[in-house]
Amino acid sequence: MSNSQLEHHIDQRRTFAIISHPDAGKTTITEKVLLFGRAIQQAGTVKGRGSNQHAKSDWMDMEKERGISITTSVMQFPYNDCLVNLLDTPGHEDFSEDTYRTLTAVDSCLMVIDTAKGVEDRTRKLMEVTRLRDTPIVTFMNKLDRDIRDPMEVLDEVESELNIMCAPITWPIGCGKEFKGVYHIHRDETILYSTGQGHTIQELRTVKGLDNPDLDEAVGEELAAQLREELELVMGASNEFDHELFLEGELTPVYFGTALGNFGVDHMLDGLTKWAPAPLPRQTSERQIDAKEEKFSGFVFKIQANMDPKHRDRIAFMRIVSGSYKQGMKMNHVRLGKNISISDAVTFMAGDRSRAEEAFAGDIIGLHNHGTIQIGDTFTQGENLKFSGIPNFAPELFRRIRLKDPLKQKQLLKGLVQLSEEGAVQVFRPMQNNDLIVGAVGVLQFDVVVARLKAEYNVEAIYEGVNVATARWVECDDAKKLEEFKRKNQMNLALDGGDNLSYIAPTMVNLNLAQERFPDVAFRSTREH
Ligand code: GDP
Repeated sequence: MSNSQLEHHIDQRRTFAIISHPDAGKTTITEKVLLFGRAIQQAGTVKGRGSNQHAKSDWMDMEKERGISITTSVMQFPYNDCLVNLLDTPGHEDFSEDTYRTLTAVDSCLMVIDTAKGVEDRTRKLMEVTRLRDTPIVTFMNKLDRDIRDPMEVLDEVESELNIMCAPITWPIGCGKEFKGVYHIHRDETILYSTGQGHTIQELRTVKGLDNPDLDEAVGEELAAQLREELELVMGASNEFDHELFLEGELTPVYFGTALGNFGVDHMLDGLTKWAPAPLPRQTSERQIDAKEEKFSGFVFKIQANMDPKHRDRIAFMRIVSGSYKQGMKMNHVRLGKNISISDAVTFMAGDRSRAEEAFAGDIIGLHNHGTIQIGDTFTQGENLKFSGIPNFAPELFRRIRLKDPLKQKQLLKGLVQLSEEGAVQVFRPMQNNDLIVGAVGVLQFDVVVARLKAEYNVEAIYEGVNVATARWVECDDAKKLEEFKRKNQMNLALDGGDNLSYIAPTMVNLNLAQERFPDVAFRSTREH
């Protein structure tokens, strides 16, 4: 492939994820986005995903029962002149580690806000995470078909609480039963809303210009007058869209609509495909890698088990950072120092797995993993480098895990180590005894682990309480001091699933004391893969 062809493919790519608080409408928007991407025929099919064609292991049943999305997936679809990759993230906060890592694999985010509620907790947290990399944010104010809060007030809240400037691109006309549509500031036209069309792409009715008498007729004189008045205020008080500031993550274009009514989602997609960045460079241990470099490179940000019941393997999700993937190509698995031939990677066109013949920087491909790939692994064409910034978070909840049948200790350990490589849970093996301690960020992770140990490793395990309050990864440049620290703290030391030295503390006071006594030792609450 020539350089200009490669560049063309890469320029087309837009890779993003949705950040929102549960119930704000992420699933509904995903559905409508796929409808516009012609990836599904009719809206209403996304929630059922996973129940029919995918695995039916216990933990997926669990997911269905609880109505939460434990698994994440990748959906690719064409829109305008772009190829869009939408990375789904788990909605439940017990799986937020997974979400944080997925956010390292995107170039922009869509923030969905329930306009009746405003800025909510989880959105606040996820925005903090996107700030670490200054990811550009597009905003969708959802549920305009309900009685919402004053839009101006909600914009103020976004600006002050999330510390990002808002530039409205559309402005709503009425809300709830009186929701009439939006005025598109950049296009200088009103797009009218019809109810009851949520499942299809609506035929557009528009009115050009703000002073057009047709507008008064279409939305009523009162609402038309209110719109003109509000717009004057908005134009005075809010920011104009600025592409540079958007790319720096300092300003967000804001769209209004209703995902359920499938209105406004296309305006947002127009903006996203036009303004969101094509695949961005990524930092490695050695140097920055540009998307358009000819040589392939990528990193693994997620591992997922059991998507296809016929193959009991695990899929490693890799973000391609540079160049392109071709079926059968050889890649350098940097951590293992091994050249491997990849003939059966999968892509995620429209949510269906199919064999990828080629894929480009910005795309996600899935590699079949038989235990040799871990989260954070880098793949290249030759060069020995390592992508940085894919985090692990110190767990906050701990339990001792024990077998019902003590003869299967080996299986249990293997299962736990593999699940920890996947990021499903963390495991700690104290140096002084044979306990196995499971650490999690959210309590549901414990249930998932027991269910999966049974389904995938055929071991029945149960939990017991354990006197651990917190864990830290320990590092020290001075080998002598590290030895002394290890000698004096045997009781509290453990190895995690990747054999990294960890300090497990029964209380926060104990941790604080240890930190005071050993000022040269670093106690880290995050660890990079
Ligand atoms: P998620 O938890 O963020 O994925 O939210 P969902 O997409 O599952 O939506 C949560 C609830 O809000 C569901 O009952 C949706 O039908 C509803 N919902 C989503 N978008 C809208 C909207 O624009 N208007 C109204 N009235 N309800 C909506």
